[in-house]
Amino acid sequence: MNVQSPLSAVRPVSDGVFLDNAWVPSLAGETLETFAPGDGRVLGRIAAGGAEDVDRAVRSARRAFEEGPWGRMSAYERGRILMRFSRMVEDQAEALALLESQDAGKPIRQARADIAACARYFEFYAGAADKLHGEAIPTIEGVLAVAERVPFGVTGHIIPWNYPAQMFGRSVGGSLAAGNACVLKPAEDACLSLLRMAQMLAEAGLPEGVLNVVPGLGRTAGAALAAHPGIDFVSFTGSPETGAQVQIAAAAHHAGCTLELGGKSPQILFEDADLDTVTPVILNAIIQNCGQTCSAGSRALVHESLADELGERLAAGFRALRAGPPEADMDLGPVISARQRARVDGFVERAEADGVTLAASGEISADAPAGGFYVRPRLFAPTPRDHALAREEVFGPVLALLTFRDEADAVAMANGTDYGLVAGVWSKDGARALRVARKIRAGQVFVNAYGAGGGIELPFGGMGKSGHGREKGFEGLREFTTLRTLVVKHG
Ligand code: NAD
Repeated sequence: MNVQSPLSAVRPVSDGVFLDNAWVPSLAGETLETFAPGDGRVLGRIAAGGAEDVDRAVRSARRAFEEGPWGRMSAYERGRILMRFSRMVEDQAEALALLESQDAGKPIRQARADIAACARYFEFYAGAADKLHGEAIPTIEGVLAVAERVPFGVTGHIIPWNYPAQMFGRSVGGSLAAGNACVLKPAEDACLSLLRMAQMLAEAGLPEGVLNVVPGLGRTAGAALAAHPGIDFVSFTGSPETGAQVQIAAAAHHAGCTLELGGKSPQILFEDADLDTVTPVILNAIIQNCGQTCSAGSRALVHESLADELGERLAAGFRALRAGPPEADMDLGPVISARQRARVDGFVERAEADGVTLAASGEISADAPAGGFYVRPRLFAPTPRDHALAREEVFGPVLALLTFRDEADAVAMANGTDYGLVAGVWSKDGARALRVARKIRAGQVFVNAYGAGGGIELPFGGMGKSGHGREKGFEGLREFTTLRTLVVKHG
C-alpha cells in the first residue's frame, strides 16, 4: 500500500492479503483505492480479495488451529501474546491514531480514544483468556459431568468502517483469547490501521495462520467468508440488511453468528431531568464520530413540559458546532464517503420536504477542503412520531426531538422502533428511572448517563433489528466458545 505524506510516521503495509503472517498478492489480482474522507484524495491501495483468497485464508486458519502451536497453547500463553500486542499498540498509539484519523475521517482526539480502546480490548481479553472456564454439573452418584468451554475453531469476522480499530479489538481480540483462529474481512472504506495491527500481532508472537486478513468488497470477499463451509462461527457488525444476508449464508453451512447491527437509540428526559447535565451529553451522543455510531443517541424524547427549554438549549448547542478537517480536531469531522453524505442529505431533504421543523444547524468550517465529505449537524424539533427521522437510522449527525405526555407514553415511544440497541433515562426520581429503564427493549440502558462506563467490560449488543448475541466484556469471550459436555463414570 502506498500511503502518502503526512503519514510517513506509519510504516506502509501492503496491497495484498495477510496470510500466514506475511503479505501475499491477492489471487483475485485486483486492488481498490481508499480515500481520505477529509479531502477526498487517494490515501492508499488495498487488495480487492475474492473467494479464492478467502478459501486460502480459511484453510490456513484451520491448519493453524488444528496443527499449529496455537491449539496446544495454554490459555495464559495466548493471553501473554495478546497483552504484548496491547502494549505495542500503546507504544505506537500516536502513529496509529494519525492513520485512523486520516483513513476514517475522525477528529484526532476521537482517533486517539479509539486506539486507546483497541489496546484496552486486547488488555481485557488477554487477562480474561485464562479466566474462562466451564462447570461441573451434579447428576448421579459415580458420575462426573463437566461442561467445558472450547473454542469453535475458525471464526470469520466482518466489520464496518466506523470504528475499525475498536471493532478489531472487540471482535478479533475476543475470539483469539478464546483460542480460535480468525479470518477477518475489514471494511473497504476504512481499514488501514488494522492492516497495520495484523502485522503487529504477528510481531507480538501470534503464530502463523492464526489471524488472516482478506481486504475487499462486501459482496465478494465478505459474502465468500460468510458462506465458506470452513467457518465455524461468524461475528458480523454492520447494517441490518447485510446482517440478514450474512446470517442466511452462515446458516446454510450450519454456522452460528453474532449480529451487531444498527440503532435508533432514545434519550428519555423526564420533567425533573437536570438540563445542565443532560444537554451536553445529548449533543455529544449524536455528534460523536459524526453520528456514525451504532449507539448514537439519535432520538431525544422529552416530557412536553421541558420540550421548549431543551429545544432552545440544544439549538444553541447545534448552532455552535463546527465540522472540519480531522487534523483540526473540531466538533465533527467529515462522514466516511460521498455515498454516506448523500444518505444523510437524503434524510434531511425528505424531512424538510415533509415540513419537519429544522430547529438549528451547525456549520462547516471555512478551511474544510472542498473534496471532503462534510455535512452540517442538524436538529429537527419537534419531529412527528411517525416520520422516518423518528424511526430510521440516519447514521449521521441528525437529532430528532420528540415529546411525550407521561411515563407510559415515554416507554411506548422508546420501544416504538424496530431497533433495540441502547437507551438513556434521565430523571432525579431514582425509582421511576429504574422502573422505566427495565421496561426498555434495548441491549444496554443507561440511567442518568449515556455511554459513560459503557465500555469494554460490559456486554453489548441488540434486540430486534439491532441484532443478537453479545460482544464486549466477559460475555463477548463466551460467545466465541461452544460447550463440550464430558461425562465420566467412575463409580
Ligand atoms: P454494511 O453492512 O454495508 O458493511 C459492513 C461490513 O459488511 C463491511 O465490511 C462490508 O464490506 C461487509 N459486507 C457488505 N455486504 C456484504 C455481504 N453481502 N456479505 C458479507 N459482507 C458484506 O454496513 P456499513 O454501512 O459499512 O456500516 C453501517 C452499519 O453498521 C450501520 O447500520 C450501523 O449502525 C452498523 N454498526 C453497528 C454496530 C454495533 O455494534 N451494533 C457497530 C458499528 C456499526
